[in-house]
Amino acid sequence: MSAPRDRRPPADEPLGSITRPVVDDSDIAPVCYACGAVDLTRLRVALPAGRPAVFASCPDCEATAWFVVDGDGRALGPDGLPRA
Ligand SMILES: [Zn+2]
Repeated sequence: MSAPRDRRPPADEPLGSITRPVVDDSDIAPVCYACGAVDLTRLRVALPAGRPAVFASCPDCEATAWFVVDGDGRALGPDGLPRA
């Protein structure tokens, strides 16, 4: 048995839509709409219409909301309408 000699690492691939750099989305989803906590869990996602958004979950009160990237900063519910 001869081991393959060509063990080059794969060529650099451009980052696709799945792999994203770590970003700070605290500007987009700044605060829990329900209790005001700022230490939210934030996930960058894409809405069905293709709009980028941030899904935020509050570890304190478990409230969740959507925030449209480059939107007006309002917390949106699952139906896309503003919370509160
Ligand atoms: Zn909260």
